[in-house]
Amino acid sequence: IGATAATGGAVGAAGAAGPASDPHDPRVRRLLDRMTVEEKLGQLQQLPWGWDTGPGGGASEAVKKAEDATRAGRLGSVLSIFGAKATNALQRIAVEESRLGIPLVFGLDVIHGFWTTFPIPLAQAASFDPDVARKDGEVSAKEARSNGVHWTFSPMMDVTHEPRWGRIAEGNGEDPYLTAAFAAAKVEGYQGERGEDGSDGSAAYGAKDRVAACAKHFVAYGGAEGGRDYNTVDVSESRLRNLYLPPFKAALEAGAATVMASFNTISGVPAHGNSHTLTDILKKEWGFDGVVVSDWSGVQELIPHGFAEDGAAAARLALDAGVDMEMTSTHLLTYGKKLLREGKISGARLDDAVARILRLKFDLGLFDDPYVDEGDTVDGPTAAAREAARETAARSMVLLKNEDHPKSKHKVLPLKPSVRSIAVVGPFGDSGDLLGTWSFPAAVKKYPSVKVLDAVRRAAPGAKVTYARGVDPEGEDTGGIPRAVAAARAAEVTVVVVGEPPAMSGEAASRGDIGLPGGQEKLVAAVAATGKPFVVVLVNGRPLTMGGWLDSAPAVLEAWHPGLEAGNAIADVLFGKVVPGGKLPVSFPRTVGQIPVHYNHESTGRPYDADNKYSSKYLDLPPDPQFPFGHGLSYTTFETGEPKLSRERIAAHALRRGDTLEVSVAVTNTGDRAGDEVVQLYVHDVTASITQPVRKLRGFRRVTLGPGESRTVRFRIGADDLGFWTNAQDGEFRVEEGTVDLYVGSSSRATARRRLTIT
Ligand code: BGC
Repeated sequence: IGATAATGGAVGAAGAAGPASDPHDPRVRRLLDRMTVEEKLGQLQQLPWGWDTGPGGGASEAVKKAEDATRAGRLGSVLSIFGAKATNALQRIAVEESRLGIPLVFGLDVIHGFWTTFPIPLAQAASFDPDVARKDGEVSAKEARSNGVHWTFSPMMDVTHEPRWGRIAEGNGEDPYLTAAFAAAKVEGYQGERGEDGSDGSAAYGAKDRVAACAKHFVAYGGAEGGRDYNTVDVSESRLRNLYLPPFKAALEAGAATVMASFNTISGVPAHGNSHTLTDILKKEWGFDGVVVSDWSGVQELIPHGFAEDGAAAARLALDAGVDMEMTSTHLLTYGKKLLREGKISGARLDDAVARILRLKFDLGLFDDPYVDEGDTVDGPTAAAREAARETAARSMVLLKNEDHPKSKHKVLPLKPSVRSIAVVGPFGDSGDLLGTWSFPAAVKKYPSVKVLDAVRRAAPGAKVTYARGVDPEGEDTGGIPRAVAAARAAEVTVVVVGEPPAMSGEAASRGDIGLPGGQEKLVAAVAATGKPFVVVLVNGRPLTMGGWLDSAPAVLEAWHPGLEAGNAIADVLFGKVVPGGKLPVSFPRTVGQIPVHYNHESTGRPYDADNKYSSKYLDLPPDPQFPFGHGLSYTTFETGEPKLSRERIAAHALRRGDTLEVSVAVTNTGDRAGDEVVQLYVHDVTASITQPVRKLRGFRRVTLGPGESRTVRFRIGADDLGFWTNAQDGEFRVEEGTVDLYVGSSSRATARRRLTIT
């Protein structure tokens, strides 16, 4: 989050000004002057390809609808279309057969890969290395753009404290600072870095290997009550600004071209009709001059929200609030002209929305070259892309637990390459379906994930490797467990691969019970009962509760949904080719009843105290989660020293003017092999005019250290890190006098502390 956060500075080259200050404006203006009202409204319309918006329609009907609307100049954009041939054919209608020849912009949900599926975004965050997201963005952009896609509806940056929420898989977890870093990196990966291509002010995503990004979902979608998708969000202004908004600010500072509105309400006002968030904050306070696209039928949904009485009202409320483009529903197109005639919407606002969309098309280079070269199509993962998918997946894995096995007296992991026999057990051991949510059907079919079983066989060529499925991830049939137990008994070590099928996370995939589904817990317990060494590999899209089986498992590796190279990346970590170095980007609760449980909670007047009956606790649970934010082990060990501050006192006014201080800490690899540690810096403002989280992440650095190697890690912190947003509706960022505790360590439980006094 750049220094402008504190001052509420504008993002975007054009600042708070409208189209007038944009270099493309003369071209936009010339077009606007020639457009009829219908053509203007047409630009605001986005229709899906391959899905029909109305009941009873089939794919071909949707295609025909899009073609007709394009020809008539009543369509600005199409979503879920890809392929050089299909996109070129439709584009040709726009350019050659519509009156003004305005090109269409094609969007697609490229969330964590196009052909080359990277680990899910939640997993990527666990790498604590934003370059992982950047790499995904670059590879995805290249593959997608060559297939005619100009615009991806990604990155998703919804911070959430709700592991039940299925969409937690698509975001970066529970922390705004970590999410902001990943959001910015992903945007740069997709779009290229701002100004990358020279000084003419043109957007980097005009290049033929880049796509425009979409920061979504604006905003506070992750606050859904009970973790049920699309549910109500009631949020204070300070929480909105401190928790949910920072990743968006960071994404826009990185240049994100577009923003998508969210399905939820925000303190009673649906996000699609929320002028406070879309216009006051996003467009005015931040000066965002790009396109706000609705979510799928989000404009229409103002009616069932009970906010708009009919389609015409929905169109008016959404446009007024700041929505520029309507995805799938057609209320602006249908009622816009009438609303304009009746003076219910303003012509200036309509022109503003159209100008934003036209500018996106100019920036994408579509007016210069609307087509994609059919000879240049990337039609599958290249060797380099596969390698990147494998590396990033391994980098995202988190070693949750690795204890000495009671009998052998040494740790199960890493597995020795000399091992003679391995049993792979569990429904995901032989599965090619580890891509995760939002892997589009063509990719799933053509490029499924590498299976764990195959990769283990390759990694241990001298070993006898057997497989037993044991149970199903859905359904309670445990009939296969005896075979799995026999396999475990006969093997030196067992790799139990359990988790969630990809369809159990993602959109509309919330769960009330977040344990291992089906008979999988029983399978783990049965393997544990053999008394033989085993490791549990988890493949899942959210934090899981682990119940009793956790105690019986000597080693647990969180692999998430690792994507295309799943099996290879898992084997790399199991056999120690890659030493695990990921950390949890989200807390893992002990039970569902503990949710929300997250590291960045506020303190109460009666903080938790085991001896005090009247403190903030459950009778039957410890206060902390099973595994906290930032937790993750290695095959080696690290020691972080006492943090040092470059100054122990700093003036609030100096901080406000941009002064900073340095926090440094020595970290040493105290083990006998190389590995990665993620050094983490947390702050706690001890007394403030608004109760503060007990800890807030304000720095992290993943470092690789050889055995015995030591390094000093330095963090620079300033006003952005030490201040907070108040409840003022028009945005007030404060740096207050008083004491701030700084904690440095290897997880959010870090105890090494230094005090800073702000005078
Ligand atoms: C999702 C968005 C997605 C859109 C288009 C919606 O249901 O909420 O995240 O971009 O569909 O597929």
